[in-house]
Amino acid sequence: MDPIVVVDNLRKWFPIKKLFFTKGWVRAVDGVSFIIREGETFGLVGESGCGKSTLGRLIVRLLEPTSGTVYFEGKDVFRLRGRELKEFRRKVQIVFQDPYSSLNPRMMVFDIVAEAIKATQQEIPEDMEDYVASILEKVGLSREHLYRYPHEFSGGQRQRIAIARVLAVRPKFIVLDEPTSSLDVSVQAQILNMLKDLQKEHNFTYLFISHDLAVVKYMSHRIAVMYLGKIVEIAPSDEIFEAPLHPYTQVLLSSIPIPDPKIARSRMKLRPKGEPPSPINPPPGCRFHPRCPQACSLCAREEPPLIEIERDHYVACWLYARK
Ligand code: SF4
Repeated sequence: MDPIVVVDNLRKWFPIKKLFFTKGWVRAVDGVSFIIREGETFGLVGESGCGKSTLGRLIVRLLEPTSGTVYFEGKDVFRLRGRELKEFRRKVQIVFQDPYSSLNPRMMVFDIVAEAIKATQQEIPEDMEDYVASILEKVGLSREHLYRYPHEFSGGQRQRIAIARVLAVRPKFIVLDEPTSSLDVSVQAQILNMLKDLQKEHNFTYLFISHDLAVVKYMSHRIAVMYLGKIVEIAPSDEIFEAPLHPYTQVLLSSIPIPDPKIARSRMKLRPKGEPPSPINPPPGCRFHPRCPQACSLCAREEPPLIEIERDHYVACWLYARK
């Protein structure tokens, strides 16, 4: 599969202002590179505050980077202007975590979806009402929902409306930023299965962002693990779960509850030391070194590069870079 998105050494530092002076920087995303292949679901997982949502927003160009770039279909996203930018805005969409605040409470469902079509300046369907109703059917709603307001729906139904708005503009690449984390487990499963079915039908490419490892595993073909603004491991989904290489990935996986007490006890040994450091003042060298059970003196001095250890399996750790 060809890459549809190429992220190249992307950085986003947010200034910390005091009066008129910049007192420091929050290094939310700090030198991240990877590719996303056409038709795949690329999972992005990490603890809260690791920079994964900022990365998602950079890729859809809701934020401008501090440095580095993103290529979509071979074009530098941050240099797009005029018609090319409008086309990018149509092809690349985002579904947010909170279906309550992502829909305008004063607009009916028909207007919410129709507005998206008009805003992307596509050919307007001859019968807009029929078209919007057909999109609603794809997400498990019906024509009778067309002229209702968002407050009349449950959380799961609102997320379906948000997905309908995205589908209506015929995108190619969709960033799903924790799309089910505010929903009940049973509703979560319905939405995830629907997203999978839509991907098969339309050959969508997804960037699926979540802190929930089980959900990311279920959805993704490949997974990237993020820690404090950096990608520390990228591998096919099964490989990440069966043979994680990076100590942080191992620690992250050890947090999944296991019913067998023997296995659960052995995993307790993988607990990291201390609390995650601040992205304002990240540690030198490997950012995980103050918490890593396998750290050595080199880890505190030099940052390990992200290198391919096995086919399609990348790790940033001196345990592997020295081999
Ligand atoms: Fe641990 Fe060193 Fe690997 Fe970082 S580079 S994860 S500190 S062993």
